[in-house]
Amino acid sequence: MTNSKNRYGNKFIGAHVSAAGGVENAPLRAREIDANAFALFTKNQRQWVAKPLEAKSISAFKANCQMLGFAPEQILPHDSYLINLGAPEEEKREKSRLAFIDEMERCRQLGLTLLNFHPGSHLNQISEQECLALIAQSINVAHQAVPDVVAVIENTAGQGTNLGWKFEHLAEIIDQVEDKERVGVCLDTCHTFAAGYDLTSVDACEHTFAEFERVVGMHYLRAMHLNDSKVDLGSKVDRHQALGKGAIGWSCFEYIAKDRRFDSIPLILETIEPDLWAEEIRALREFHLQSID
Ligand SMILES: [Zn+2]
Ligand SMILES: [Zn+2]
Repeated sequence: MTNSKNRYGNKFIGAHVSAAGGVENAPLRAREIDANAFALFTKNQRQWVAKPLEAKSISAFKANCQMLGFAPEQILPHDSYLINLGAPEEEKREKSRLAFIDEMERCRQLGLTLLNFHPGSHLNQISEQECLALIAQSINVAHQAVPDVVAVIENTAGQGTNLGWKFEHLAEIIDQVEDKERVGVCLDTCHTFAAGYDLTSVDACEHTFAEFERVVGMHYLRAMHLNDSKVDLGSKVDRHQALGKGAIGWSCFEYIAKDRRFDSIPLILETIEPDLWAEEIRALREFHLQSID
């Protein structure tokens, strides 16, 4: 797998870029920051309903990805923030499931194979276990409705009643998903840290990822969000920061850039200063290339 002649090495590094003006613009924006991965919303993330993707937008997206060398495994679409697959009320859960199926269908139309989403919230109306079971059922329903697309559960910071901040939550959802080939995890470093898993040193990273391996399994890791955190360890709030400017610091991002376990999956910046993305990507890539010399 190691190909040191490729200037990108074995890491897919990019950012969550804007799809303003059409999804076909996202790969062009990723190219501008010399990314070899990107994330995008395939619809307005703050609205329930979107008009279907137009055929010409779909073909332009595919053509741009092909022209710029973005394969499906380098692209991580993110679903709408409104969706709660573990919603206690049936009506809201049903609305979320339909919206999630629509998101999956849009991914499939674009030839994409991953869909990153936040698991859901119990809203203090049901138990954690009940909510996790509903989330798993929602994934099962979506799998039946749409082929091919992998449901990539993002770990959360544990803000409010959001589940998915403990690795055990992720394991409990996966355990109840029927098609294990089509479920995975996206670990967000900011969320992981805010949830109480230390990432501030090599030793801390070793420990945290060993814990993830023990509870969930690294083979379920399908993507990462690389974000520093404005808040301290275990704060349970989600406040992204530019890499190296927050409470996590560069040693974590250097560790991920150099470790083979994070090869060949999208590593996506959602840091708060888009003007720094090109620089952040360059720094991560440099660490990675040092490690495969
Ligand atoms: Zn994230
Ligand atoms: Zn976040």
